[in-house]
Amino acid sequence: MAFMKDNIFMKIITGQLPCDRIYETDRVIAFKDITPKARIHILIVPKRDYKTLMEIDEDNMDLFGELMLVAKKIAKKHGIKGFKLHMNVGEEAGQIVPHVHLHMLSTEFRSAL
Ligand code: 5GP
Repeated sequence: MAFMKDNIFMKIITGQLPCDRIYETDRVIAFKDITPKARIHILIVPKRDYKTLMEIDEDNMDLFGELMLVAKKIAKKHGIKGFKLHMNVGEEAGQIVPHVHLHMLSTEFRSAL
């Protein structure tokens, strides 16, 4: 898949596009990846519009701790024992959606996910 000029995640955040929502607060949303690369593949997305990690600095770095904590909360709620967190930074690294997000991946099976 090529880099998308359109910020499709903002359409999900604003409700213009549907998603399989796993978790949501006023700052973060998490939903299933439409083309999962593992049994569990969840995208954890801040609602504020940052394109990549390169837009993050000391003023907004708390957001990153929050994305990690959301992964922990999802794991605890669904009994996921082990998972990987992955972030593509930039088109050259394979980022296709121009909106910061964390991939949460696990080989475990959980029927709700
Ligand atoms: P990236 O390569 O940008 O780090 O990851 C973007 C991810 O978003 C990909 O794994 C891709 O499958 C997923 N994705 C792209 N479009 C949609 C969509 O409309 N809905 C959902 N749920 N996931 C999407």
